[in-house]
Amino acid sequence: MGTVTLQHILAARDRIADMIAATPVVVSTSLSERLGVPVHLKLEHRQTTGSFKLRGASNAIASLDAEDRTRGVIAASTGNHGRALSHAAKLEGMRAVICMSKLVPANKVEEIRRLGAEIRIVGNSQDDAQVEVDRLVTQERLVMVPPFDHPAVIAGQGTLGLEIVSAVADVDTVLVPLSGGGLAAGIAAAVKGAKPNTRIIGISMQRGAAMKASLDAGRPVQVEEMPTLADSLGGGIGLDNRLTFSMCRDLLDDVVLLSEAEIAAGIAHAYGQEREIVEGAGAVGIAALLAGKIKPRGPVVSVLSGRNIDMGRHRDIVCGKEELAA
Ligand SMILES: *Cc1c(COP(=O)(O)O)cnc(C)c1O
Repeated sequence: MGTVTLQHILAARDRIADMIAATPVVVSTSLSERLGVPVHLKLEHRQTTGSFKLRGASNAIASLDAEDRTRGVIAASTGNHGRALSHAAKLEGMRAVICMSKLVPANKVEEIRRLGAEIRIVGNSQDDAQVEVDRLVTQERLVMVPPFDHPAVIAGQGTLGLEIVSAVADVDTVLVPLSGGGLAAGIAAAVKGAKPNTRIIGISMQRGAAMKASLDAGRPVQVEEMPTLADSLGGGIGLDNRLTFSMCRDLLDDVVLLSEAEIAAGIAHAYGQEREIVEGAGAVGIAALLAGKIKPRGPVVSVLSGRNIDMGRHRDIVCGKEELAA
C-alpha cells in the first residue's frame, strides 16, 4: 500500500504554483469568542473554480506524459472535481469528459458545460457515474483522474496544508470537510509531516458518511447515497480504495458527523457573521464548532472548502426558509 508524504506535497506545490491561487487565512472574531481559543478560517472557497479541487486536478494534469495528454482525461464527480479538471484540461488544450449522477446540482453541471467539457449524466450515485467512466476508459482510451484516490490528487490537495502551517505556525487543530478523503489525507500528511502533534478532525454529514462507516468497520464499506446540503461530500470511498482509507485511518484523530440543520446553521453563520458565501460542504467546520462538537483546543483552523452552491438555495438557507430533514 502506498502513501503520500510531505516530500510529494512539496513537489506538487512547485508543480502547480502557476495554476492555483494561494488563498487567505483570516481570524474569525465571532468563533474565537465563542470557543475561547483562536479560530482561523482558510478561505479556500475563493480558489479558482470555487473549490480546492483545482489543486489536485492541476497536479494530476501537470504530471501526465505527452501521450496521455493527447488522449484526454475523464472523471466521475459530484461537481467540483469535474469543474476543476475541466478548467485545468482546457488550459492545456486537452479533451475532458465528466460523468455525474442525477444528484449533482444543476448549477455545478452548467459550470462544467461552460468550460467546454463533455458531460454524461448517469444513474443516481457516484458509483453509477464511475461505471460509465470505466466503460469510456476502455472504449475511448481516456486517462482517468479520480476525484480523491490518486497519489497526484492527494499531493495536490496537500498543498493546502502547507499554506495552513505557514499562515498559523502554532496551529493545534485543523477541521477538514471529509468525503472520499483526498483533502483530509493530503492536509494531514502535510500538516503532520511538519507538526506531528497537530489534531486533524474530519467532518461529514450524517446522511451517507462513507469514510466514517468504513473507518468504524475497519475496511471500505458501501453506504447509501442520499441527498444532503453538503452535496460535495456525497458518494462512496470505493470498495477497492488504495490510498485514502488507510491514510485517513492512520492520520485522522477523529471524525465528526453533522445533521442537515447543523450544516444549514454553518452556511448561515458563514454568511451573516463572516460575510462569506460557502456551499454546505464548505460550511461543515464552522457548523461543527457552532454545534459544540469540537473540544476547544487552539489555535483552530477550519477549512472552507468550496462555494459552489445554488444561490436561490443559499438565499433560502440564510433567510431560514429551507425545509430541513433532521
Ligand atoms: C470534494 C469536496 C470535499 C471533500 O473532499 P474529499 O477529498 O472527497 O474528502 C469537501 N468540500 C468540497 C467543497 C468538495 O468539493
